This record gives sequence, structure tokens and C-alpha cells, in this order.
Amino acid sequence: MNSSALPPARCDVLVIGAGPAGAACAQQLATHGLQVVLADQHEFPRDKVCGDGLIPDAHAALARLGVLDEVLALAQPVPAVRCVAPRGHHVDVAGRLCVLPRRVLDHILVRAAERAGAVLATPWRFEAVLTEPVAGGGEDRVVGARFTGRDGRRAEVSARWVVLATGAAAPPLKAAGLALRHTPSGIALRGYVRHPELAGQLRELHMMWHDRLAGGYGWIFPAPGGLFNIGTGVVSSYETGADGKGRKAVRGNAANLRAMLEAFGEVHEPAGRLLREGEWVGEAKGAPLRCSLTGARFGRPGLLGAGEAIGTTYSFTGEGIGKALETGVLAAEALLVGLTRPDAELLAGYSAALEQLRPRFDTYQTASWVNRWPWIANVVVHRARKSPRILRRLEGMLEETQNPGNLFSWRGVTRLMFE
Ligand SMILES: Cc1cc2nc3c(=O)[nH]c(=O)nc-3n(C[C@H](O)[C@H](O)[C@H](O)COP(=O)(O)OP(=O)(O)OC[C@H]3O[C@@H](n4cnc5c(N)ncnc54)[C@H](O)[C@@H]3O)c2cc1C
Repeated sequence: MNSSALPPARCDVLVIGAGPAGAACAQQLATHGLQVVLADQHEFPRDKVCGDGLIPDAHAALARLGVLDEVLALAQPVPAVRCVAPRGHHVDVAGRLCVLPRRVLDHILVRAAERAGAVLATPWRFEAVLTEPVAGGGEDRVVGARFTGRDGRRAEVSARWVVLATGAAAPPLKAAGLALRHTPSGIALRGYVRHPELAGQLRELHMMWHDRLAGGYGWIFPAPGGLFNIGTGVVSSYETGADGKGRKAVRGNAANLRAMLEAFGEVHEPAGRLLREGEWVGEAKGAPLRCSLTGARFGRPGLLGAGEAIGTTYSFTGEGIGKALETGVLAAEALLVGLTRPDAELLAGYSAALEQLRPRFDTYQTASWVNRWPWIANVVVHRARKSPRILRRLEGMLEETQNPGNLFSWRGVTRLMFE
């Protein structure tokens, strides 16, 4: 569908936002025979500011959606995450990893949703939900959404249920009545730099913690074709848990992220080489992050939130593609089971499924103290280099095969120092 075509006036499920969460949800629903409209403000393929790194949870979700082989055929394979401590020493944490620019990845996912039967409606910007009062009172039920096209035309889509998967932007969350917090959990800046000479040498996902990057971290992710995704980000380490509100706004902004990127080049030699010798492809761009399953309600009658809109990005590392895909699938599953049941039952089932993920988000939330106090990375990297057991725990955390327990808590770090 292109800008001249209006979206269908009604469907079973309207999915708003065609990033990983929305596309995965639409694909699953359409596969099961539901009429699905997948709407986005952009035409595809489109860019998305991201590090483009795919970690094991994303691999698992992509396999489940049947697109992993297509992704791996185009992605840059990566053997390990290289965690670089302030003192410069590092440890390599192995896992299923690769890098694929979002322009390509998201297009693969959208095409898979279309192949399954979802109708893609672009470029239509979500403006407001359509609601109806509920018999007996209570919160109005969402029954569709209103969109604006690039040419200013309006369109309305009615649906039995709506899924909001619009990512970290606050306005759609507010418009849908799901926002508990308007500020993001973090902000990050990335650019693409071409450096064919380094392409064969820098093979890992580099993540560095350093006093000069305090509050966040710097990364270099090797993309296909001699390209590197380089960036810096800050993530709040103060986010609260289940109440969803968070206590403190993020300290970063685009200007100091640019200064951080320069500092990254000064403290990490490969970053310095890329920034000095590489050829910039486009400009560095920033974007917000919403983390730790906080900042938004999971849904309301007639509407489910999925992906980064409900905070599914990991604090500490800023990775969120895997959990966006997973929660898109969870939303689809909740709808497939609950479409004919009372709204409250469907919402409760979805919330329960999301709460199962919370321990993982809490682990990453605790670990994000490293962003605030980078010296902790000195201790963890030093000990992981000496102890295969600690390295295995880090690999288990990455692969999500085990919970690293309190490795990153105060008690855990103290134990590491004196063990
Ligand atoms: C700089 C940076 C680096 C990152 N690096 C990584 C990384 O390396 N690996 C990783 O796993 N994660 C990374 N992340 C996080 C990752 O980008 C997100 O977790 C992921 O994109 C969330 O997916 P989503 O589908 O929920 O939302 P999105 O990918 O943001 O998709 C939302 C979609 O909704 C559409 N939309 C938004 N508003 C509207 C509207 N009003 N109307 C219609 N459509 C709308 C958008 O156009 C978009 O297509 C990074 C984030 C940033 C900012």
C-alpha cells in the first residue's frame, strides 16, 4: 500500500508501528487467519537509529518468526561481546551474535508480516485512539485509531483490538493513554563509519565503560561491507520497578553525547582510529530509549502495548530488538487466546506473560550501576579473565540460559573483589 491508498476501514487487529514488535505481532496474528492492518508513519525500507546488534534473544525470536536464515545471510557474523573496562583490559563474552542495519532487518520483518497476510498501511501517522464508553462505566474502550497521511488526509481504522508498538517516542503513548512517564529511560547517538582496513581486525561487539563515558558506555559494532556502527548512550540507573514510574530523568542530551563520542575516541584506540581515519556515511543521529518494563501501562480495554513503547529495552546495554520481537509475539498470543473473552481477562493474561520477563529486566537494571560507576567494570572484567566460572555466568546472562544472580549487585561486586 502506498500514500495514495487509504488503510482498510476495519479489521480484527490494528497494529500501530511496524518496527520489530509490531511486525512480529502482525505476522503472528495474520498467520492465524486474523485480518490485520499494520500501520506506520514511514514507508519501508526505512532507517531506525540503533546499534544494529542482534544478541541471542533476537536470534531466538527471529528463528521463531521463520526469518533467521534470511537475516543471517545478510548480517555480519560476530563471535563475542568484547567488554572493555576503564583500565583498557577486556574480556570476550561469546554468544549467538550478528549485526544488520535496521533498514534491512525491519524490512525483512515487515515483508514477513505481509507474506502472512497483514495489510501494510504507510505512511500513516497515528494521532489518536477512537474510543467508546463501556456499559456500567469505567475506562472507555479503544475501538480503533485515527491517522494522518503525509498529504494531510485523515483516515480512521476500526478494530476489535489495537496494538500500540510505536517504540520509545512519548507522543503516541500519551495519545493512547498508556504513558505513565513522559521522559525516556535513556538516550543514545550512533553513526556509521566506513573503514575497510579495520573490517577484518575488529570482529567483536565492542562495549566500553570509562569514567569519561560515565552514565553510559561507548560501542563499536561491525556491520556488513566494512561499515561500523559507532555510538554512545546514557541510561538512567535509577529506574524503579513495578510501579512503572521511574524516579529520575536521564542526564544525557544530544550535545553531550557528541562530546562523549569524542571522548570515546580518546580512551579506546579502535574508536579513535575509526573517528580519525574512517569515512562517515551520513550523520550521527540520536534517539531515546525506554527500558526495564517501566514508564507505561501494558494496556487498557481494547488496546495492548508492545515493544519499547512499554519499556522492553534492556537498561545497562540498551539492547531491545529481541524483547521487542518477543513481546510482539506475546501480544499476538494474548489476542489469539483472548479475543472472544472479556477484556479484563485478556489484559490480565498479557500482563502475566510480561511479568514473567521482569526478572531479566531487573538483572539488567541492577547491572546498569556499571554505567554510573564504571570502576565496577574493572573488577568484573579482571575477575572474568581469571575465572572461567564467572565468564560462563556472563555468557549465560547473554544467552539467557541462566540468571547471573547478584553478579552486579553490591554484594556480588564486593564478593568478586575479595573472593
Ligand atoms: C542509538 C540506539 C542504539 C541501539 N542499539 C541497539 C542494539 O544494538 N541492539 C538492540 O537489540 N537494540 C538496540 N537499541 C534499542 C532498539 O532500537 C529498540 O529496542 C527497538 O527498536 C524497539 O523496537 P520496537 O518495535 O518496539 O520499536 P521501534 O523499532 O522504534 O519501531 C516503532 C515503529 O513505530 C513507528 N511509529 C512511531 N510513532 C508512530 C506514529 N505516531 N504513527 C505511526 N507509526 C509510528 C516508527 O516509525 C517505527 O517504525 C538501540 C536504540 C538506540 C536509540
